[in-house]
Amino acid sequence: MKEKRLVTIMLMLITCIFLCSCDKKSQESTRELFAMDTFMVLKAHGEESDAALDEAVREIRRIDQMLSIGIKESEISTLNNNGEADFSEESMYLLDTSREVFNKTEGAFDITVYPLMVEWGFVDQKYRVPEKGTIKKLLENIGTDKIETQESNVKVPEGTKIDFGGIAKGYTSQKVIEILERHKVKGAIVSLGGNVQSCGVKADGKKYKVGIEDPKGSEDYIGVLEIKDKVVITSGSYERYFKKDGKVYHHIIDPKTGYPAKSDIASVTVVNEDGTTADAMATALFVMGREKALEYWKKYGEKDEFEMVIVENDGRITITEGLKETFDSKRHFKVVGK
Ligand code: AMP
Ligand code: MG
Repeated sequence: MKEKRLVTIMLMLITCIFLCSCDKKSQESTRELFAMDTFMVLKAHGEESDAALDEAVREIRRIDQMLSIGIKESEISTLNNNGEADFSEESMYLLDTSREVFNKTEGAFDITVYPLMVEWGFVDQKYRVPEKGTIKKLLENIGTDKIETQESNVKVPEGTKIDFGGIAKGYTSQKVIEILERHKVKGAIVSLGGNVQSCGVKADGKKYKVGIEDPKGSEDYIGVLEIKDKVVITSGSYERYFKKDGKVYHHIIDPKTGYPAKSDIASVTVVNEDGTTADAMATALFVMGREKALEYWKKYGEKDEFEMVIVENDGRITITEGLKETFDSKRHFKVVGK
């Protein structure tokens, strides 16, 4: 299963690179790495692009360590193991953003689902379907509202544990783009396992293009978005899953049930200007399902300046009206307005 996933990610990245860098004459610098359990590709052009990308790679490694559940001394591990930890400004920012999205999405985004992720075997990759009673018991400890903070001190009740898996890559791409901008690159695009963020324009002056993967795994993109200074983050059930007795169990958990979210959405892509919130929102919108996701967009889309592309399990595509001019697809799609 893991191998299949890696091959899919590789194929996705290769095609993404193709889409992102059609100009052969450009003096683009590239870095490829494996971090946060996924393949990453960074591209930039500009005078300082090499130095910028080197710094970006160091930053990715740093954040990977910082958020690692596997490292005993990390702030998150300390909180999860001891029920209390002192958080750096950075971890606190992630916690505050997670809490904000938890509140706004009525709990659909919830970083305390971690014990459920463990129980379903997504953490050690020994996939299993937990007993109903086990899930019921674990649900008692779920809820971002159980996390207490006082200045830099964070406390959780016994049994409550967190992980930033649903927000980490978006935060990282945001930090990477900020580094690249500080180095005054003329254009850059980074793909962290298919989550894409860009700044500026390609060396030929044209906008970057990002393909949205077909959740069904066909080689065709369901569509291509043209972006400038935007992040494009997708959450989908096809990204990580296992099969047991003919049933598919994916990695996005509904915090209310403790089971993989029964969503009519196969993938939801959020487009906005901030990686951190885009990542958290994509996960939450997946949990909500199409109807509630569209309601959410109608309520917050303008204020939070985000748009989305929804692909349903039956293949139907819906985009929000702000993407009308930038989304190109050979397939039929519906445009939804306010
Ligand atoms: P993403 O790929 O960004 O949608 O994030 C999925 C990852 O976030 C999972 O692998 C879990 O680590 C974590 N996760 C799963 N369900 C949720 C949820 N409802 N809220 C927040 N994080 C979640
Ligand atoms: Mg996410």
